[in-house]
Amino acid sequence: MKLAKRVSLLSPSPTLAITAKSNEMKRQGLDVVGLGAGEPDFNTPTHIIEAAERAMREGRTKYTATAGIPELLQAISEKFERDNGLTYSTKQIIVTNGGKHALYNLFMSLLDPGDEVIIPIPYWVSYPEMVKVAEGVPVFIEGYEANAFKVTAQQVKTAITPRTRAIILNSPSNPTGSIYTRQELEEIVEVCLAHNILMVSDEIYEKLIYDGHEHVSVATFSKEAYENTVIINGMSKPYSMTGWRMGYAAGNQTLIQAMVDLSSHSTSNPTSFAQYGSLAALTGTQEPLEMMKREFVKRRDRVVDLLNQIEGISCLKPEGAFYVFPNVSEAMKKMGYDHVDKWCEDLLVEQKVALVPGSGFGSANHARISYAASMEQLEKGIERIRQFVRRG
Ligand code: PMP
Ligand code: GLU
Repeated sequence: MKLAKRVSLLSPSPTLAITAKSNEMKRQGLDVVGLGAGEPDFNTPTHIIEAAERAMREGRTKYTATAGIPELLQAISEKFERDNGLTYSTKQIIVTNGGKHALYNLFMSLLDPGDEVIIPIPYWVSYPEMVKVAEGVPVFIEGYEANAFKVTAQQVKTAITPRTRAIILNSPSNPTGSIYTRQELEEIVEVCLAHNILMVSDEIYEKLIYDGHEHVSVATFSKEAYENTVIINGMSKPYSMTGWRMGYAAGNQTLIQAMVDLSSHSTSNPTSFAQYGSLAALTGTQEPLEMMKREFVKRRDRVVDLLNQIEGISCLKPEGAFYVFPNVSEAMKKMGYDHVDKWCEDLLVEQKVALVPGSGFGSANHARISYAASMEQLEKGIERIRQFVRRG
């Protein structure tokens, strides 16, 4: 079958592929430790489930407004005011089927063929593919490990051409967990504003920040910064709602309206009762989130400690999200591997541990471990990695 060029160039999401593969192996009865999936292992909090259940029983099972129910748009607007000090009217917000859908609609609404989008490496797997589907061109700049995988304003400046339309910022980052400081962001914002570049700020890990670090949204720096930012966020990570498919975007009203119009011809509204669940998530108790954070900190500390004890592996301690991104290049070299994909594949076959190879994030020397798994699974998985590396 001849496929359209836009999809024949696509590679499947490696994060979802590795998760599917490890789940399949588990179904076959194999004792696989799955550290690939980027989703909290906690259940969705009960009050959220009950709100969705109630909505269904009350007959809220019909189409809603494409942009989302007014109550949820209002709750998101209040969340921005409360958490970020940002004012967005409900017309500047769209509720989507996950943050992924928000990003997809954004690039489809923003890019003309050949428009460039600057993407820092390591990047979340879907950014370059989405830009390409929208006929844009990803332009990569490298966030070096020595700088906690973060790019500098100078690097951004060098990557700008007359075709640059946007940059994607993701702090805290998937896959590194790194957080940009206020100062670092300020410098990047200055460059972006000087060149009229839209900042796509993916803040989906905003709530998952540890050790007293702060989340700073680039939209807060000035009126111009606010006008040149689109914020992407969602329910998946803070409220353990990955399967509900609920995300949102906020920004320029004309751009948001274009995204709504696109949804009106593709997905229509996000699932009605999932919107009521999301309303409860934003307006109800935040204690389950706090509990999850306390648990993630413990796991992060243990995982980083254990990984750094393995010869040939070194791992920075990230400040946010629930991933670590260890450098495995020495271990690979010692074992005779020249590609991290093969290293991860053999680790899965021989030791039954699923990680996502760094190649999916633009890095040949790293692998991503999600610590959104139980401590017992994490310890077992890392012990198996140690055994694997030891075989030399
Ligand atoms: N952005 C980043 C950086 C992510 O890691 C994810 C993970 N899925 C998403 C966006 C989208 O998440 P979702 O579609 O579940 O909201
Ligand atoms: N964002 C998560 C991850 O990176 C979930 C999978 C996906 O949507 O790609 O693993």
